[in-house]
Parts: sequence; structure tokens; C-alpha cells
Amino acid sequence: MLVTLKENLSNAEEGNFAVGAFNSPTLETARAVIVAAEELHVPVILSHAEVHNVVNPIEVIGPVLVEFAKKARVPVTVHLDHGSTLENVKKAIDLGFSSVMIDASHMHYEDNIKVVKEIVNYAKQFEISVEAELGMMTSSGIGGEETASGTDEVSVGTDLYTDPIVAKDFVDRTEIDALAASFGTVHGIYISEPYLDIERLKSIFKNIQRPVVMHGGSGLEKQDYINVINAGVRKINYYSYAAKAGALAVKEYIQKEPNLFYHDLTVIAREAIKKDVKRAMDIFSNK
Ligand SMILES: [Zn+2]
Repeated sequence: MLVTLKENLSNAEEGNFAVGAFNSPTLETARAVIVAAEELHVPVILSHAEVHNVVNPIEVIGPVLVEFAKKARVPVTVHLDHGSTLENVKKAIDLGFSSVMIDASHMHYEDNIKVVKEIVNYAKQFEISVEAELGMMTSSGIGGEETASGTDEVSVGTDLYTDPIVAKDFVDRTEIDALAASFGTVHGIYISEPYLDIERLKSIFKNIQRPVVMHGGSGLEKQDYINVINAGVRKINYYSYAAKAGALAVKEYIQKEPNLFYHDLTVIAREAIKKDVKRAMDIFSNK
């Protein structure tokens, strides 16, 4: 069934677990994620990132995600990831998405608040949840949902991390449902071992009393996931490593199979993505 992000994350809060948010730019990914969630009986978030419009535009893949969510035997939120404008947010809501992220984190603080507030006011009329970002989530430059081509500069520093005191002001003034905070993860494939500032995360969660979202959530150690969930993370964005798993399986198959047909590759990719996503979902359930 289709549920809002707010509903999904408040259940996660009650059960002290995190809901996985998986970018699903292709039919194979979307099916892999839904089947994995149903097999494990866990709630899930199907996300569409704006940068993936080149793979399948939101007008094409969006209705598919919404349909999958409605028919699923588990609670599913359909979410716009890294929305950049009110226009794009409106489009997602028109298509039936139950949650949107507006990312104005690159703007000056007051401008970020202004843009987010505008989205919250709009989305509230339709009872759609809103996630916004404070602090800067950087990118490793390889994969990820923020960079389609992987051309972003690599810059990682604690000065870009979310300030717990500012976070409280931001959430109070914008009235968002979930906050994407920066405390050590990066988008894409990790090129060095991440350092997660768990104390900062705990302070953010304590101050905002709302679910915290972790972006760049694939490629971490199991214990890292447990630590962030116990510190207040309720939504984990997971994508790059699942996409990588699909690609590696296809590569292996191509190397050993002389008779290649494209449709077989989609099945190979789907199964590999499903396996990787299931492993992640199992950890996120924090049992
Ligand atoms: Zn992100």
C-alpha cells in the first residue's frame, strides 16, 4: 500500500529501525526492491532522483513506482529524491508521489528556509511529506544519486556537517517531516573509509525530535548502520552499491555466456540488485 513518508518513519521510530530508500530508475530496480521488501515483510521507500531522468524521466517511471506501491503487500512510500524546484515537486505530487525532498542545501541558510517553507506549504495541502537537507552532503564523484555523470568535485570536511543547534532552528521554522543531515557519509562509491560523527548525529536527533535521513547510505559496515539507527536515523538512502552489484553480475554473465540476449541481462541485474537490497533491508530492520 502507498503511505506517506511521515507514516512510514513514525512506525520506524516506534520500532527503532530504519526504512531503506532505494532509487529505482529502471523497471528492474523497482521490481527488485518491491519483491525484496515483500519477501522480508518490511516497509520500503521507492525513490526517484532527478538526476535519473536521463535513465527514465519521472513522467515514465513515476506512475510505475506509484502503481507498484499501491499493489504492494507492504507499506511503500514513493519519494522524489533531491528535488530542485517547486515545479519538479509539483510534478511528482501530480504523478501520485507521497513524499518529496527539496534540496536547497547549497543555498544560503535563510534562502534554504524560504524555499523549503514554500514546498512545505504547498505539499501540506495534499498531505504529502517533505524532507529537506541542511549541511552539505558531498559526493565521491563515482555514482550516487546526486551526480549523474560523476563529475562533482570531491570535498569532504566537517565544516560541511550539519550543526545540531542550527538544525533545531531549521526544523522548527520549516516544519519538515524529516531532515537529511550531514555527519560523515558521502554520495556514491567510497574512495576512502567514511568516518561517521555519531555524537553529532545524536545531538541533531535530540534537538529536532524528528526522523533523521542518512544519504550516501550504501557501502557502510553493518555496525555503522546499527550505530546510526540507534542514534536516530530512520531513513537510509541506499543506491550506489546495489547498482554496482547489478552491473557486476551482468559483466560476469557477459564474460561467460556466448549467446547474449538483452532481456537476459535485465533478469541477471534484477536478481543481483534484489540480493544486495535484501541484505541491506535485513540490517536496517535492526532486529
Ligand atoms: Zn542524497
